Amino acid sequence: MINIPDSYCLMVHLTLRCNMCCSYCIQNFDRNRQHYDIKEELTTQEWIDGINKFSGKLITLSGGEVTLRKDLPEIIQGIKNFSTIHLGTNLLINPKEYINKCKDQD
Ligand code: SF4
Repeated sequence: MINIPDSYCLMVHLTLRCNMCCSYCIQNFDRNRQHYDIKEELTTQEWIDGINKFSGKLITLSGGEVTLRKDLPEIIQGIKNFSTIHLGTNLLINPKEYINKCKDQD
């Protein structure tokens, strides 16, 4: 287990997909999208297993647009070793819907 000190956070990019094409995006999604293959993304279990190799106070789940991962609630539920989970989202989704979805899986 790798411990992340409290003053740091673990940030993971669950997907490079995004529903926006911001010109200032540091990841150049618009340019890369044509070459992007969703099959290259890690599976739900691969993400959960990978994240659970770390422990700490804060983890940030980001992308791309993280909510494009349909399995996001499942990944959140699978995270064991972090007390706070941040979502890096552009908020084009309804955050309350996501929270309720996660609660429904309890
Ligand atoms: S990841 Fe953020 S900055 Fe990049 S295209 Fe999407 S919304 Fe824009």
